[in-house]
Amino acid sequence: MRWQEGRVAEIRDEAPGVRTLSLEVPEWPGHLAGQHAELRLTAEDGYQAARDYSIASAPEDPRVEFTVERLDDGEVSPYLVEVVEPGDVLEVSSPIGLHFVWEEATGGPLLLIAGGSGVVPFRSILRHRAAIASDVPVRLVYSVRSPGDLIYRAELDDLVRRTGVELVEVYTRSAPPSWDGYARRIDRQILSEVAWPPEADARVYVCGPTGFVEAAAGALVDLGHAPERIKTERYGGV
Ligand SMILES: Cc1cc2nc3c(=O)[nH]c(=O)nc-3n(C[C@H](O)[C@H](O)[C@H](O)COP(=O)(O)OP(=O)(O)OC[C@H]3O[C@@H](n4cnc5c(N)ncnc54)[C@H](O)[C@@H]3O)c2cc1C
Repeated sequence: MRWQEGRVAEIRDEAPGVRTLSLEVPEWPGHLAGQHAELRLTAEDGYQAARDYSIASAPEDPRVEFTVERLDDGEVSPYLVEVVEPGDVLEVSSPIGLHFVWEEATGGPLLLIAGGSGVVPFRSILRHRAAIASDVPVRLVYSVRSPGDLIYRAELDDLVRRTGVELVEVYTRSAPPSWDGYARRIDRQILSEVAWPPEADARVYVCGPTGFVEAAAGALVDLGHAPERIKTERYGGV
């Protein structure tokens, strides 16, 4: 694995405890939408800790972006969310993983299912789809606890308006006032209503905490979707 230095050019608050770090990485080798990279921290005594983060920016974007959610008892994420400042330098690995990428040749329709910060690689995929003016039908099913936890709100609304992305919001704890959409954890019933039927041969991507990914992917298989059409990215936890 090659490491390069990235300078934090900008930081954006996305939701409580969630920030996007926008890095200038002069030696960035380029990436595919859906890949991840490692961010590595080194303490003054030489102790190092590295964690995987999905790449939030599109291959076409000038900076490399990561969106990190703070885990209260975590070792690395609280530092990235609370301590890192513009001007700091972080070590970034070269891009990793080809199993979760989407390119024009992958085709569609495209069903993206995100739990919480699992939406991060889909921002890259949706930005890439817009950048290449692809007309592949795409539906993003995005599960969050409450409206304030929804990451990339303005950008997603813009992608819906400009590029025909269909967005299905799912709220697991509190929904917006007068919400008549889904207000529970994603289950087989929800997926039977929002997923294309198995005959449509959709490319399905599921990303988020491990338990979320396993529940959603399992329900899709129960509904008749071919396991080899379902790509999964597990972030850890339960
Ligand atoms: C391929 C990949 C891509 C990832 N992309 C992102 C991303 O874009 N944004 C992002 O915020 N995170 C992402 N993660 C998760 C990230 O790698 C770290 O696991 C996370 O930031 C926690 O690190 P930490 O050092 O703060 O916590 P740790 O010190 O490693 O863990 C603290 C505690 O939290 C538990 N835990 C670890 N991960 C999770 C989790 N996801 N949910 C709940 N509990 C957990 C651990 O079991 C442990 O008990 C990704 C993980 C993978 C494998």
